[in-house]
Amino acid sequence: MKKVVKFGGSSLASAEQFEKVGRIIHAEESRRYVVPSAPGKRDSSDTKVTDMLYATYALAEEGKNFSKELKAIKARYQEIIDGLKLKTDLSGEFARIEENFKAKAGKDYAASRGEYLNGIIMADYLGFPFIDSATVIFFDENGDFDSEKTNEVLGAKLETMDCAVIPGFYGGRADGSVQTFSRGGSDITGSIVARAIKADVYENWTDVSGVLVADPRIIHKPEVIETITYRELRELSYMGASVLHEDAIFPVRREGIPINIRNTNDPEASGTWIVASTCQKSKFTITGIAGKKGFCSVNIEKDMMNSEIGFGRRILQAFEDHEISFEHMPSGIDTMTILVHQDEFMHKEQNVVSEIHRLTHPDSIDIESDLALIAVVGRGMKSSRGTAGRIFSALAHANINVKMIDQGSSELNIIIGVHNDDFESAIRAIYDIFVIARL
Ligand code: ASP
Repeated sequence: MKKVVKFGGSSLASAEQFEKVGRIIHAEESRRYVVPSAPGKRDSSDTKVTDMLYATYALAEEGKNFSKELKAIKARYQEIIDGLKLKTDLSGEFARIEENFKAKAGKDYAASRGEYLNGIIMADYLGFPFIDSATVIFFDENGDFDSEKTNEVLGAKLETMDCAVIPGFYGGRADGSVQTFSRGGSDITGSIVARAIKADVYENWTDVSGVLVADPRIIHKPEVIETITYRELRELSYMGASVLHEDAIFPVRREGIPINIRNTNDPEASGTWIVASTCQKSKFTITGIAGKKGFCSVNIEKDMMNSEIGFGRRILQAFEDHEISFEHMPSGIDTMTILVHQDEFMHKEQNVVSEIHRLTHPDSIDIESDLALIAVVGRGMKSSRGTAGRIFSALAHANINVKMIDQGSSELNIIIGVHNDDFESAIRAIYDIFVIARL
């Protein structure tokens, strides 16, 4: 059995957290390929090392003195090294980083040092070999991740190694420079490593006990989802649930490797399993609820629009011409609604509206702002009757006016549009009817 274990920043923020991680790794012989993030926050008022690196590099780029800031970063690592009673000496590394900062090696290089240095400490602590990710994870000349080359080189390298530490978040370009993934990208590295070694499981250790049924800022102590499919998770993450980087699903999905989200601070909890497909029913009919505020709807009316071939295409053309992507497009016989992100649309609204007029000659166009979208996601909805009915009666009881409904053909989710002000109470009402009522 082979497992890739990725640890997030809060799991590696201090020597104490490192010790917990060490215990987790030693508890199972299969946990052999370790992907660390950079040290995160030790408490809510702390700063992530990645953010410190970005800020320090910004000074370097402006030609300002940054030695105090770099020293503070070094101190973060030294505290971990001392706390673990290691002899790791990072002075040479910091001298090189200082030189490279002065030579303006780039923002990505700067940020990547967070995981690079943490990887060196982790390798020392565990007695595992260290691999610099810039030598095994590749980006092409356009800056796109080169999945096939990476899989080949990384797979061949790891095949010869029983264990290794591979820092998260970055890789290298052909010219030798460093490139990072987007923020939170160590999750992607973990997934890439899991694919390359054909791991049995990709364990992603963080500071929550799994994917939650709803946002804990809205629902007090929400339930943890036991099993979720990749597709369900994608729907939830797209709508704002944040546990795993959105792109982390793709590499493991190709090999059908399950992801197990675990809590470093509660290692006994079994966490959430993210799988390709499952016959396990979710506990509450629905798997999860997520949502976002800040949408607006453009409602277009024209008598007999449904018999006018190309009407929809022309409407969408107006949005495309102004580079606005749309979220949903519910329609009726004589009406069509386009839902868009308010902040993207706001500055261009009059241009889009006049283009719609020009292209389709509608009877009226009406714009409604400050809408929120809520996705109720669940593979169980396909086989159970009455889910939509329950959602809407819960919302009606909570006195919430539903502005829009959209059910995807996959029957995996129901999207509901409400006013921004009703967002939290709508989520609470849906959570209550499906979860609280079942507990
Ligand atoms: N350290 C990086 C960040 O803060 C990457 C990661 O933690 O996944 O975004």
